[in-house]
Amino acid sequence: MSQEKLQFIAGERREGSSGKELSIIDPSTGETIATGVGADVSDVDAAVAAAKAALPGWASATPAERSDLLLRWADVLRARSAELTALESRNGGKAIKLADGFDIPGVIDNVTFFATTARNLEGKASGEYSGDHTSSIRREPVGVIGSISPWNYPLQMAAWKILPAVAAGNTIVLKPAELTPLTSLLFAETAKEAGIPDGVINIVTGRGSVVGQALVEHPDVSMVSFTGSTTVGKQVAATAAGSVKRVHLELGGKAPFVVFEDADLEAAARGAVAGSLINAGQDCTAATRAYVQRPLYENFVRRVAELMDEVKVGPADDMDTDMGSLISIKQREHVAGMVDRAVEAGAKVVRGGRIPDHTPQGGAYYEPTLITDAAQDSEIVQEEVFGPVLVVLPFDTDDEAITLANDTPYGLAASAWSSNVFRTQRATREIQAGCVWVNDHIPIISEMPHGGYKASGFGKDMSTYSFDEYTNVKHVMSDITGEAHKGWHDLIFTGH
Ligand code: NAP
Ligand code: MG
Repeated sequence: MSQEKLQFIAGERREGSSGKELSIIDPSTGETIATGVGADVSDVDAAVAAAKAALPGWASATPAERSDLLLRWADVLRARSAELTALESRNGGKAIKLADGFDIPGVIDNVTFFATTARNLEGKASGEYSGDHTSSIRREPVGVIGSISPWNYPLQMAAWKILPAVAAGNTIVLKPAELTPLTSLLFAETAKEAGIPDGVINIVTGRGSVVGQALVEHPDVSMVSFTGSTTVGKQVAATAAGSVKRVHLELGGKAPFVVFEDADLEAAARGAVAGSLINAGQDCTAATRAYVQRPLYENFVRRVAELMDEVKVGPADDMDTDMGSLISIKQREHVAGMVDRAVEAGAKVVRGGRIPDHTPQGGAYYEPTLITDAAQDSEIVQEEVFGPVLVVLPFDTDDEAITLANDTPYGLAASAWSSNVFRTQRATREIQAGCVWVNDHIPIISEMPHGGYKASGFGKDMSTYSFDEYTNVKHVMSDITGEAHKGWHDLIFTGH
């Protein structure tokens, strides 16, 4: 166990000022891996002041200068990727295979992506639209960004906030989830090692309701970007309204997984298992509700159950482990509670629904769980479980499938499985979600946007679309006639 300074402000690790000790836990064993002191409002003030001080220099650096630093940062991250992988796995109870094959390479790819796009920020228009003026568009940084991230993919979620913001010339204060700050802190340190100036990236670790709240309220913060639950996202938006801040919200999800009768059954069953159990189901785009057309339903349930039996649940640091623990015992209680209530309401547990026997004592493990016979309007179908739980329900007609897929408050991601191009085209058009996969579920890529519809929020992470969140569009209109008496003045007075 180490003693850690859990704040990174103006280029240095610092102790928090709250006086409250925070224990950082490895949820796959229940052991404390680090202790440190949480931030209070004065630390938020210091971090925002550092970001504000760094803003003029960073915003006026050339795109090439920012790009060079991001490329160097990617090199530092590659050199330290084993350390980041081990830490991400340990702090999240996440199977190290996942951290090694997804989280850390994904982050490094994001850094290189934003290093290149940093040089391509452009406005759309330059022309004489009025006839008498040249109009042009400037894209300018918004200012100091306040960002708040969740615990499920701690480093990826931090990176998705930090990278487009700093690539576009903003400076940032990020508050990671109190449970999982360690890789965000190391990420900020590696940015310094690469030469990114002090104050451009700051991290404050502490309770959301105190530290997160203070960041959202802060008068020198120009924009808030938040990834987390819909409930907290609503509070953040309401608070941000008080000071008219721009808000970007990436919220909860409840992705439907629609399997038509002409789908490849094996591909769909494998996709459903991988898509629902990735990161122990603690994934906002995870497959949570599989709707399967009646002729395939029985075989689909049977095959998914067989494949779930093959998934190895075990210690996060074992390369043979497929699925590690949940983030906390509290989260496991939440998941188990939802499964138990589903059963009370008449659903059947086909696999799982319990704590596994052979996992380490003190770890927050839960078995891969397959549920059938749940009602569409029941809690298990409508609300986020955020655990390794897949519900499978039958449908008869294509119309019904689309209606059911759209029948939750969320709209983050979805998938449609069929060998008929007309069916999948219709599904991609009619399912209300920020991403619809066809014959797959989960893959993401730096070039393409990630973001929600409906109660899943608004705005985009990743891709060049994220620059729409992190830049202000300025219209510059310059007279090109050189005349003192302009035609439009006649609207006001007719002097000669
Ligand atoms: P959460 O409970 O909403 O917390 C998210 C972050 O907000 C944490 O850093 C939390 O801090 C902070 N927070 C809590 N109360 C706050 C307040 N009043 N003001 C400001 N900040 C506050 O979410 P979570 O449990 O960490 O993560 C799971 C959720 O994230 C799920 O709903 C999931 O769907 C969503 N998610 C969405 C996406 C997406 O891209 N749409 C991606 C990943 C996760 P503390 O926890 O430290 O108190
Ligand atoms: Mg939470």
